Amino acid sequence: MHLRILGCSGGIGGANRTTSFLLNDSILIDAGTGVGDLSFTALTRIEHIFLTHAHLDHIACLPMLADTILGSRSAPLTVYASEATLGVLKKHIFNWAVWPDFNQIPSREAPFLRYVTLDTGQSCRIEECTITAIPAVHTVPAVGYLLDSGKNSLIFSGDSVCSPAFWDIVNATENLSHLIIETAFSNREYELANAAKHFCPFTLLEQLKHLSRPCQVLVTHLKPADSELTMQEILRDNMSLSISRLEQNQLIHF
Ligand SMILES: [Zn+2]
Ligand SMILES: [Zn+2]
Repeated sequence: MHLRILGCSGGIGGANRTTSFLLNDSILIDAGTGVGDLSFTALTRIEHIFLTHAHLDHIACLPMLADTILGSRSAPLTVYASEATLGVLKKHIFNWAVWPDFNQIPSREAPFLRYVTLDTGQSCRIEECTITAIPAVHTVPAVGYLLDSGKNSLIFSGDSVCSPAFWDIVNATENLSHLIIETAFSNREYELANAAKHFCPFTLLEQLKHLSRPCQVLVTHLKPADSELTMQEILRDNMSLSISRLEQNQLIHF
């Protein structure tokens, strides 16, 4: 299995793209602005989209992706998310006011877009990969994902300040090779980070004390204004872990 990082920034501007990861060729984990760099042919290969939550930086390209490829596909595009997140998409995005409801066209019986509820603790298996929704703590209902290739596992925290339940899963994942975890703000934005339920370096490193398994820790979702400073603060205060910055276009084999 390979995961290609289409976007991992907490904002836009220049080369920055927001969260989206491509698993093999047909599975997207979140649909931020990184999706827009794929070729039309690559876009038509996408069949499954797993969403962590409904915040715009994680779904920005979903409506236009659906509109762009659905005429070129015979099978529907499937969106997997928690019941709460799917409810937001139906009410606020695919509602005929902001964008067409592709779950009703060309017909309700054979729609272009279909929804599958995947709440915390539920798994589904696609192309040898088991994808499990895991607990996240954010300002809106959110999940992270555990991707198990059978050989190794990669965990993505989503936007989350983590919880004991999250660390229980991380530490019980015996074949864990990579942990992608967010840090949006630098330490000087400590209060804002707490209010927005994002990490800053101080709170990230506090939470990483719960990690009891060796793995590569990859930091994502850095806000462009302070991305260098935030990474410096993490690396300066990191005592023992293998931590690096997740890079756009990075290819992770697991
Ligand atoms: Zn968010
Ligand atoms: Zn976000």
